[in-house]
Amino acid sequence: MSKFQRLGLSQPTLKAVEALGFEEPTLIQEKAIPLLLENSKDFIGLAQTGTGKTAAFGLPLMDLVDPKSVNPQALILAPTRELCVQITNQLMEFSKFDKGVRIVAVYGGADIRRQITTIKKGVQIIAATPGRLRDLIRRKAVNLAQIQFLVLDEADEMLNMGFREEIDEILKSAPSEKRVWLFSATMSKDVKRITKHYMDSPEEVVVGQQNAANNDITHIYTLVRPKEKYIALKRFIFSSNADEVYGIIFCRTRRDTVTLANQLVFDGFRSDALNGDLSQAARDKVMQKFKKKKINLLVATDVAARGIDVDSITHVFHYNIPEDINFYTHRSGRTGRAGNKGHSIILAHPKDKRQLTAVERKIGSKIKFVKIPTRKVIYDRKLSILIEDLKKAKAIPEVDGLLEEANKKLSNLTKEDLLRQIAYMTLGKGEEVEEIRTYDPSKSSESKPKSRARSSSKNGNPFHKKKARKKFERSKKKFKKKKK
Ligand code: AMP
Repeated sequence: MSKFQRLGLSQPTLKAVEALGFEEPTLIQEKAIPLLLENSKDFIGLAQTGTGKTAAFGLPLMDLVDPKSVNPQALILAPTRELCVQITNQLMEFSKFDKGVRIVAVYGGADIRRQITTIKKGVQIIAATPGRLRDLIRRKAVNLAQIQFLVLDEADEMLNMGFREEIDEILKSAPSEKRVWLFSATMSKDVKRITKHYMDSPEEVVVGQQNAANNDITHIYTLVRPKEKYIALKRFIFSSNADEVYGIIFCRTRRDTVTLANQLVFDGFRSDALNGDLSQAARDKVMQKFKKKKINLLVATDVAARGIDVDSITHVFHYNIPEDINFYTHRSGRTGRAGNKGHSIILAHPKDKRQLTAVERKIGSKIKFVKIPTRKVIYDRKLSILIEDLKKAKAIPEVDGLLEEANKKLSNLTKEDLLRQIAYMTLGKGEEVEEIRTYDPSKSSESKPKSRARSSSKNGNPFHKKKARKKFERSKKKFKKKKK
């Protein structure tokens, strides 16, 4: 009997689990599923994002709701529309072999009338953002009389986002005998308040270290002058195999996301911006491109990137430290998911020291300082990739016939000469080895500037000035000393 079979799930649900290729339950699933299936109590699950929480509540829900009743029996509240859609998609997978459990996602920014029509047709489970659900309740478009399960997913994030009033109103509107299942990465003050006010002697399951970040994530920071941040970012990307970096770069403002994504595209990366200025359709399009890996560098604001559920993200870059430190764990939680390893890299300024210490407190461990990878490191990395590519290059028979002439023309070069020339030619191409180059964000990504000026007083870099540079070096040293 497999571990999943021992949890008490029905045959159709187990079949769905098998079809998804889940071999073993994750820790939170192993602990939560039997409790949720058997118990009539409220439930608190404290676990990081990416630990399989959706299946921990979604699989038992499949077996607990009655598909014959057309009124909603379970409400799932999640902080963002993206997460609502992801939960709904996962739950639909779980119900694949079931007796017709219907699930709908309702969220702001989409046609409310269409959502009302779907609910009216009869659904058992609603996954919703708090704002839109409150709207529906106020319009009496959703009948809560038969709600038995109210799931709060990523409760800390919902409260951080300011959904307290909406959550209070929804919790009060649902029948008092409902069971509340609360999932959260952290037990913040606000989350505690919810558990006290609305939950009745809940069972609590803690997975991993509470309030701590996922152990699969390596947290590092570097110190960089604002004007050189972009170069630093590129160096970090190139110090891995740039094609294999699959990352999110977090910026503070919507405008920054667009500027940075344009700059990256201009430099030949596959990138796009995700921010709240985009329509839902445009956001979906960007997410689809990212999920299908048509782009590998997503530049996003905190709000837009909430709940992004892509398992294989290798890097999270903090182009700016988040103003609200709570966002740090949510950002870095986008990587190191489902057992994968991930890197969370902060591009900090020495004046960010207080925030860095706050982040360390938040994740419960030190963040390691690393130097910006040097040009030598980048060249070395690129050279190994070049060698691998050379070895792997596939034969093209038509080309073989053309090589005689080329052989003659290069006959005076030794193997060493040839290798050197190939290396110069290939490695010299990358922009990442340049000092700093001017970039005009107002120009579109298609129109490359004619001259590529290097960093100088002419392009307004304040750090070319000796005084400013010295001050920067001094505060950097002071900060590093303090950290030791
Ligand atoms: P979640 O924390 O619910 O967002 O899940 C993170 C990812 O892990 C999702 O893509 C799930 O499909 C995947 N996942 C959840 N449970 C399992 C499992 N038992 N085995 C393998 N993958 C899983």
